[in-house]
Amino acid sequence: MEFISQFKKTFTSGKTRSVEWRHGQLLALKQMLEENEKSIYQALHDDLGKCEFESHISEYAFVLKDIALFLKKTKTWAKTRNVSTPLLLQPGHSKITPEPLGTVLIMGAWNYPLQLVLSPLVAALAAGNCVVLKPSELSVATSKLLAELVPKYLDKSAVAVYEGDVAATTELLKQRFDHIMYTGSEAVGKIVMRAASEYLTPVTLELGGKSPCIVDNNTNLKVTAARIIWGKFINAGQTCIAPDYILVTPLMREPLIKALQQALIKQFGRDPKQSEDYGRIINDRHFQRISGYLKENEERLIIGGQTDKKTKYIAPTLIFNPELTSPIMEEEIFGPLLPIIEIASMDKAIQFINDREKPLALYLFSNDDLTIKMVKNETSSGTLSINDTLTFMLNSDFPFGGVGHSGMGSYHGKWGFDTFSHFKPILHKSFFADMPMRYAPYSNWKQKI
Ligand code: NAD
Repeated sequence: MEFISQFKKTFTSGKTRSVEWRHGQLLALKQMLEENEKSIYQALHDDLGKCEFESHISEYAFVLKDIALFLKKTKTWAKTRNVSTPLLLQPGHSKITPEPLGTVLIMGAWNYPLQLVLSPLVAALAAGNCVVLKPSELSVATSKLLAELVPKYLDKSAVAVYEGDVAATTELLKQRFDHIMYTGSEAVGKIVMRAASEYLTPVTLELGGKSPCIVDNNTNLKVTAARIIWGKFINAGQTCIAPDYILVTPLMREPLIKALQQALIKQFGRDPKQSEDYGRIINDRHFQRISGYLKENEERLIIGGQTDKKTKYIAPTLIFNPELTSPIMEEEIFGPLLPIIEIASMDKAIQFINDREKPLALYLFSNDDLTIKMVKNETSSGTLSINDTLTFMLNSDFPFGGVGHSGMGSYHGKWGFDTFSHFKPILHKSFFADMPMRYAPYSNWKQKI
């Protein structure tokens, strides 16, 4: 892997440290996106059946927004800051300077195959690093497009796309990097972390898991249902922060189900297969996996359940009270099936969540301040989103990342810049006013101070 030694040379040359180079790369990336907008939408459609609007808001415009933010802020964020110097260290001054780490490996997942590699790329370039991008081999068309476009627009001596399957990725992970950011499953996250430990390489792990959605008795049912249906079925449920299942009390169960059914029909029609706005499952393996959950729950279907193997279509499906010890409730669904679990009270809902691994996102729909306070104080999750799904991603002041099994570290906005930087403290002392009492011999030290 010659490019890695090349990147080392580039980095040591100091080229990537200048703010001009960083800005130049961000502008080149912007140009790459703008000049290839149509091919990008096509690749995302080929991989996941994504419609243009969805590709635009969740991938293309998302990255452009990041670029705009970093173009505006990088100069400020890259500045050395003065900090105070205690009397004991006077005369002297203290500064903190953010420095780039070196060569960063960014490994993306297939479900948002453009955003999940380019958004970290923006942050890593802005922080002054060389970058190896490893798109997921499952999103074939997007991976191919990135491999074709990136070398045409970005500095080849500092940025490369490495395509490949598990065997090729295993080889890549044997190389020495200065930071690895991995987005994907928990199982592979462990493999990445193990490989990184060989060189004590720091990792950021953006993982998944089951993100619960609590619906309180006191809520605006119509808006709640619309927002849950949207957040769950966008990208055919293949979103790391999609609500995985709903917890609802017996009192609200029937009204909620009715509202969800209405919202579903409103958003995707009576036959979602015909909707141009509804995506497809990434590949046969995942189609089989999700179909397996369906089979086990045939008797519990509320709406949906239809599949088409040839086009990898799985209908948006609501399922009532699946067995809590069955795969659909023990694994991340990552597809368009939404279990609705009846739970006696809000206390029980909190207990249900706390009995499981900490989720990437926790959703609560409620108008009740006490309930909101209780959920906020008594649960832990990557993000808590009250009365909406997914949209917290649009706030680049928020750190995006998991906690516990849903991941470690974060990015987006300044958080991304910080992830790919080392904040180096610099103490600059004067030779003047040396204090001899700190030197040995230390006899009578109590009298000296
Ligand atoms: P994936 O199969 O595309 O794998 C991700 C990356 O890991 C790819 O680059 C792939 O080449 C590599 N990889 C796969 N198996 C490997 C192995 N054995 N050794 C080394 N490298 C390997 O993606 P996935 O794992 O199916 O992604 C789905 C998961 O990702 C879900 O759990 C989802 O919640 C999570 N996810 C998280 C986020 C987030 O931002 N937190 C975003 C998207 C997806």
